Amino acid sequence: MRAGHQDKPTGKAGAPLAPPPLRNDCFALPAGVAWTPVDEALDMLRTRLSPVTGQETVPLQEAFGRVLSQDVVAMRSNPPQPNSAVDGYGFAGAVADGAHVLPLIEGRAAAGVPFAGSVPPGHAIRILTGAAVPQGVDTVILEEDVTCDGHQIAFRGPLKQGANTRKAGEDVVAGERALSTGRMVTSADMALMSAVGIAGVPVRKRLRVAVLSTGDELVEPGDTAAPGQIFDANRPMLLSMARAFGFETLDFGRVADDRAALQVRLDEAAKAVDVILTSGGASAGDEDHVSALLQEAGAMQEWRIAIKPGRPLALGLWHGVPVFGLPGNPVAAMVCTLVFARPAMCLLAGAEWREPQGFDVPAAFSKRKKPGRREYLRARMRDGRAEVFASEGSGRISGLSWAEGLVELGDGERHIRPGDPVRFIPYGSFGL
Ligand code: AMP
Ligand code: MG
Repeated sequence: MRAGHQDKPTGKAGAPLAPPPLRNDCFALPAGVAWTPVDEALDMLRTRLSPVTGQETVPLQEAFGRVLSQDVVAMRSNPPQPNSAVDGYGFAGAVADGAHVLPLIEGRAAAGVPFAGSVPPGHAIRILTGAAVPQGVDTVILEEDVTCDGHQIAFRGPLKQGANTRKAGEDVVAGERALSTGRMVTSADMALMSAVGIAGVPVRKRLRVAVLSTGDELVEPGDTAAPGQIFDANRPMLLSMARAFGFETLDFGRVADDRAALQVRLDEAAKAVDVILTSGGASAGDEDHVSALLQEAGAMQEWRIAIKPGRPLALGLWHGVPVFGLPGNPVAAMVCTLVFARPAMCLLAGAEWREPQGFDVPAAFSKRKKPGRREYLRARMRDGRAEVFASEGSGRISGLSWAEGLVELGDGERHIRPGDPVRFIPYGSFGL
């Protein structure tokens, strides 16, 4: 028997269900491969990551954006009983070709106010949209197709039996699965769950995501920026992205390029959250302290992925908490978050794995590309074609704003000419 949706999501002994810990090598890429293809890296995330969040039941009103921890089973059919799809007149069908006159009986059937009696054969009754179809009625004619003098109605056939009515359970049958485990609840799902009588929704606790920036050069907008300093662009971006993905965010601020300070901050974050997103300091340079610390902790996996934009990522577990060490470059940080961190975090949050939905459309641009790596271009759709941002500079943050999505160029592509099909993935497909 399937667990009822009202059941408390607890283990056998009634203790809260604790997800299994992640394996230490969950981010390990194949040894000896210089640049791992994007799809292989994604496969690895998909097969190795599992939910780290607990479960709870929340009132329906609070379920929007949450991840279902169990299948949701319809308590009631939709519609629960046969009802009229239009305002009109109901009777027993079918009706043959030609002109017909039927006597009207007293009373009417309206939504929420059913007609208690039975409609005799050869008679009609006034019926409104959403009204339960009374006994003796199986067919409804639209009021616009009828003349009525208050006592009888006249209309023209033919009319099929069942016309203008909705069958009980034609949408969802009670006891059927309405929504599946791992789904992130949409506005449409709110309507569906409500329609089938779900008051309490079994969900995962929200994934808690810490975001912190690293770099001596960073200051806060509003502060005075000395020569050589820049405003922290990644943190506001990553915090808002994680929120858009449906996660709870904790702002862990900025850390200078100082290993001890970073270590303290990572320790604090690991106590507070399920996932840590850092940006900057993820490569192998002198001031790349995220990768250095993970390395020291023996938890570092350098992700050299055949992707542009994107420098090596530093992935690892810090006190068992996954760390995504993103590149400092805002364009690379955003693309790597969309391509890798988001699906990974979705799995950790208990959500199903879903490829971002892309669309094959004609290119409005031409480009030569190195084969052997995946490229993501800042893009938008205009007049049915994908345009790309004039510059591929990875510091060009304005291009991220200009764009409404990404064009994904396959690993093997070499030369794209105007009109060639390219895959456009709207930001919305990534959950933004
Ligand atoms: P890194 O990955 O630390 O070597 O940084 C690469 C580039 O990204 C450098 O030009 C940094 O100044 C820049 N950068 C790093 N973090 C940020 C940030 N939070 N906001 C804007 N630019 C950044
Ligand atoms: Mg840096």
